[in-house]
Amino acid sequence: MNYKRIKLKPKKEESLRRFHPWIFSGAIQQKDNDLAEGEVVSVYTANDEFIAVGHYQTGSIEVRTLSFEEEAIVPDFWKKRLASALELRKSAGLLSADNNSYRLVHGEGDNLPGLVIDIYAGTAVMQSHSVGMHKSRMMICDALKAVMGDTLKNIYYKSETTLPYAADLGMENGYLYGGKDVVEAAEENGLKFYPDWIKGQKTGFFIDQRENRALLERYAKGRSALNMFCYTGGFSFYAMRGGAKLVHSVDSSSKAIMLANENVALNFPGDKRHEAFAEDAFKYLGNIHPGDYDLIVLDPPAFAKHRGAIKNALQGYKRLNAAAFDKIAPGGIVFTFSCSQVIGKEAFRLAVFSAAAMSGKKVRILHQLSQPADHPVNIYHPEGEYLKGLVLHVE
Ligand code: SAH
Repeated sequence: MNYKRIKLKPKKEESLRRFHPWIFSGAIQQKDNDLAEGEVVSVYTANDEFIAVGHYQTGSIEVRTLSFEEEAIVPDFWKKRLASALELRKSAGLLSADNNSYRLVHGEGDNLPGLVIDIYAGTAVMQSHSVGMHKSRMMICDALKAVMGDTLKNIYYKSETTLPYAADLGMENGYLYGGKDVVEAAEENGLKFYPDWIKGQKTGFFIDQRENRALLERYAKGRSALNMFCYTGGFSFYAMRGGAKLVHSVDSSSKAIMLANENVALNFPGDKRHEAFAEDAFKYLGNIHPGDYDLIVLDPPAFAKHRGAIKNALQGYKRLNAAAFDKIAPGGIVFTFSCSQVIGKEAFRLAVFSAAAMSGKKVRILHQLSQPADHPVNIYHPEGEYLKGLVLHVE
């Protein structure tokens, strides 16, 4: 192992001893000359003890730790990490005859900061959030093929919007492996969908809502459901299978509405219970009549992407939830979510509390929801926790 070295200031190794994966620039005392963006570096304490090996990148986080052992970042390293990620998903029961979509790698949650890999049937969609992961992409790609075996037919690399300096790096989205006219439906809990990794948001589908959708299915029977911010219609096709009387999907993006319609038709061809509308959520909620729906899903995009936006975001959540409480039929159920990482569980709950108080209705919490096992949170890296939700009964 002959990597360039970074030396920490005294005591700055403490968070690393607790396996927190990030090294901030302020913790660094000295670094070797000419470190390249994304290069692998060895990190030492002020007393010259080895502490970690990771990817270097200028910025407020200067090193993203790959290992706390003195090991080389070679093909075997990637195979070992991906194999253990796959094992975890298998042990969580996520690979089955009726479920072939799951997140294989969730960054820090899988000890691979800066890397996301989602699996949709025979296709892996890979996303780098750091230069180091971008530079390692071919090694990761080979490891992925070795670990997944014959089931893997394509690897699509999609980092144009997530990678810093993507344009400077000459980065373009595209297939690293396979990729000839891929049209294959993936399956989630026995329901089919077409993930659109090329034109869709993120890697093409929001896998993180799988278990929350399954819970919604249990509440759907005989209800009139409104799926706000529906994107590809995930909550809608679960509501249909659960026996909802009608299901309306709303999203401001007409492309999303097209995808939602396609996915519902794939599972329930010709079923007249479903209709989708391309409209702004606030406008739609403002125009409906009280009592039109007795099951409402609110799964908006992250209202706060950084700390500076928290206050406005909380107002947004309050306004949105208040509108739903106002319009829902007596005895209705609301599934409400926030995927803003910077907004904690308590703050979100307080915003929903304020919305309930504004509506003057009696509201009870039935479930408190989070992200599933294929989006694990490293306990030493609480920043990895982002999805939170409440299921509410509104009298
Ligand atoms: N619930 C979805 C994921 C939602 S992602 C699922 O289960 O897959 C957030 C969605 O909100 C995006 O599709 C985006 O187009 C939509 N959106 C953003 N702002 C909106 C607005 N003001 N009104 C309605 N939809 C909006």
